[in-house]
Amino acid sequence: MNKLFVDDIDVKNKRVLVRVDFNVPFDSLGKISDDTRIRAVLPTINYLLDEDAKIILISHMGRPRGKKDPKLSLAPVAKRLQRLLQKDVLFIKDCRGDEVQQAVEKMQSGDVILLENLRFYQEEEANAEGFSKQLASLAEVFVNDAFATAHRKHASNVGVTKFLIPAAGGFLLKKEITYFEKAMENPVRPLVAILGGAKVSGKIEVLKNLVTRVDKIIIGGGMAFTFLKSQGYEIGKSLVEENMIDLAREILEAAKKEGVKLYLPVDAVIAEEVNSRAVTKIVPIQEIPPNWMGLDIGPASTTLFAQVLENAKTIVWNGPMGVFEIDAFSRGTFALVNIVANSYAMTIVGGGDTDVAVHRVGESYKISYISTGGGAFLELLEGKELPGIAALTSKR
Ligand code: AMP
Repeated sequence: MNKLFVDDIDVKNKRVLVRVDFNVPFDSLGKISDDTRIRAVLPTINYLLDEDAKIILISHMGRPRGKKDPKLSLAPVAKRLQRLLQKDVLFIKDCRGDEVQQAVEKMQSGDVILLENLRFYQEEEANAEGFSKQLASLAEVFVNDAFATAHRKHASNVGVTKFLIPAAGGFLLKKEITYFEKAMENPVRPLVAILGGAKVSGKIEVLKNLVTRVDKIIIGGGMAFTFLKSQGYEIGKSLVEENMIDLAREILEAAKKEGVKLYLPVDAVIAEEVNSRAVTKIVPIQEIPPNWMGLDIGPASTTLFAQVLENAKTIVWNGPMGVFEIDAFSRGTFALVNIVANSYAMTIVGGGDTDVAVHRVGESYKISYISTGGGAFLELLEGKELPGIAALTSKR
């Protein structure tokens, strides 16, 4: 945390370029269905308004792959932001060129401008120097508050910092880093990690890193079956990654060597097919028949995991315990949401699916912190430095 944040730098009356993540979801009628990402950066925008800054907001939206696509315009976001801020937000239909330049030159203190989707130009994701320079030329100060893209090395979060100094983090970025450091760098122990989701392959680096840092690991979800198979269990048609079996065994051995207790499900909710009409059974993990697959943890596993979490002081969770999108296979994940939400531990939840599960149970307000980054949060768990954070100006 030796980086500069927005409250460390002088922004008074200055033109401030702010990279945000306004990549919000839309419903079938083209309306914003969830504006959490817009609300998440309001503290930074409001702080800049209090400082009479001239605020130039930049963001991406979806994956237009370097082409202009009206369906991925940020125009609806400008409208919503206007309502949330209760002040005018000027939307410019481009993120480079004369119109942008002229609008920025006319800005008065307290004005807010939102530029069009950065990814309408392929130079953004290519981290092209010319594009970075153009963005940098718009302002006197740079603030990055887009945590969810901090694991990417793009023009608007990394390239731009070469030409616009100081480059400081916004309050959302600061909050994400503060909570992560509290949990992983300097945790109150015991520290328990819960990992779930579909595949081991997506989380192998996380597992390798966590095994050296945490006190206990709970593994559920589809990925648990590769671990179970590596221990010789018959797992029927459950999700398994054959090429990950050896690695799973190595993780189990590494955990043993490090003195980290690792818990796998002891029972499962099984079915022959993955749909809401499927016949389900609950069986001990040793008794999955050949044509059946494990799609959720069973009640005995929930009880076991509750005991493991009972005296935890810090809990970090990524990935659901089962196919929670289908009611019949959602109980394990939802039960764990309840346990984590009502724990006395400091609790951090990250990753899109886990976040969805927590919100569905309606207990999000009881979680200490829910990360706004899926991929970025996972890369932090992998022990990696995020380029978007590394590029910020260091404190002297
Ligand atoms: P991930 O993106 O890796 O966190 O995976 C999330 C997905 O894993 C969710 O969509 C779940 O439906 C899926 N999942 C969880 N448990 C299982 C399981 N036992 N079998 C198959 N898929 C699962």
